[in-house]
Amino acid sequence: MTTQRIRHYIRSRTGRLALTYLAIIMAMTVLFSSIIFTVASRQFDRPLNGRGGPAMMGEPETIRTLLDQRAADARAELLLSLLLLNLGMLGFGVWFSHYLAERTMQPIERAMKEQEQFVSDASHELRTPLTALSTLNEVALRRKTKISDSEARDLAAKNAAETAKLYHLTSSLLGLVHTNQNTPAISSVDLQQVVSDAMEHITAAAQDKSMTIEDIVPRVKVLTSADRLAQVVKVLLENAVKYSHNRGTVEVRTATHGSTLTLSVVDHGIGIAEADMPHIFNRFYRVDQSRSKAKHDGYGIGLAIAKAISDQLHMNLSVESTPGEGSVFSVDLPLAKAE
Ligand code: ADP
Repeated sequence: MTTQRIRHYIRSRTGRLALTYLAIIMAMTVLFSSIIFTVASRQFDRPLNGRGGPAMMGEPETIRTLLDQRAADARAELLLSLLLLNLGMLGFGVWFSHYLAERTMQPIERAMKEQEQFVSDASHELRTPLTALSTLNEVALRRKTKISDSEARDLAAKNAAETAKLYHLTSSLLGLVHTNQNTPAISSVDLQQVVSDAMEHITAAAQDKSMTIEDIVPRVKVLTSADRLAQVVKVLLENAVKYSHNRGTVEVRTATHGSTLTLSVVDHGIGIAEADMPHIFNRFYRVDQSRSKAKHDGYGIGLAIAKAISDQLHMNLSVESTPGEGSVFSVDLPLAKAE
């Protein structure tokens, strides 16, 4: 759905919703007005010697006419007042129902626009490896001369590399969707275990860059989802390694404040400029894309997943960074009570 179609759809839905709200407001007003009118009319028509009233025997005809006249006047006045009130309510109802309908539709419109942006960004990112794949194969197919064994192997290796990129990207996208769809179960989790499992995942990448990873995590239990926390730690470690210089060091540390434990991944790499800081958790955002993309593979989804999980589990993911000196990414975790 294009932005224009979304706008058109939202406008028509807002109109319909506003009409429904207006109908409800007016139905209530008319109902209450009729009840008031009926009850009041009964009171106007009450005979002078009615229930509870003093008996007026031999009531002169003139008094009765005057009283009837007064009741008719009061009824007419009440009817006019109620009519004016209903007209006033109609004016107010038109404005109020529109305001309510707009407020109801706002989050729906936001969600639809986000969805559209996500599909457009994802398609854009998917096209890059797909275009590379199709170009590689087309060039090979158009060749008039035979392809040698080594050229065929080279082509297969390039195809495999682009396919691996596609696999990584689609897995990340699925991870993002999955995070937003399910709320995980919380339990008492061994923090050291989660961190060491996540570290295994990046051992190869760290070895490639001759990097050292120092794990200074105590044996404590925290209340969280082990799977989701592991996902966050993996993203932070992956980035710490990716954006550090060769032979650098990454530390995984903790600090305790009362019943909260802060887990930090500290690197001494390239750091993040202040201008990029507000955007790094956005989906598909990559710092200085034209230059950094050549140096570091990635699609700008890792931190968006880490942020989505942290928000879901109230882990308060934060970052401090100095360009050229390094970054510290931290999450807060509630400590589990000792058994
Ligand atoms: P990716 O790493 O795949 O590009 P992320 O969402 O994980 O995507 O990160 C978004 C951007 O934030 C990265 O492109 C990078 O520029 C910056 N970034 C993330 N972590 C670090 C880090 N530890 N040091 C420096 N820059 C980082």
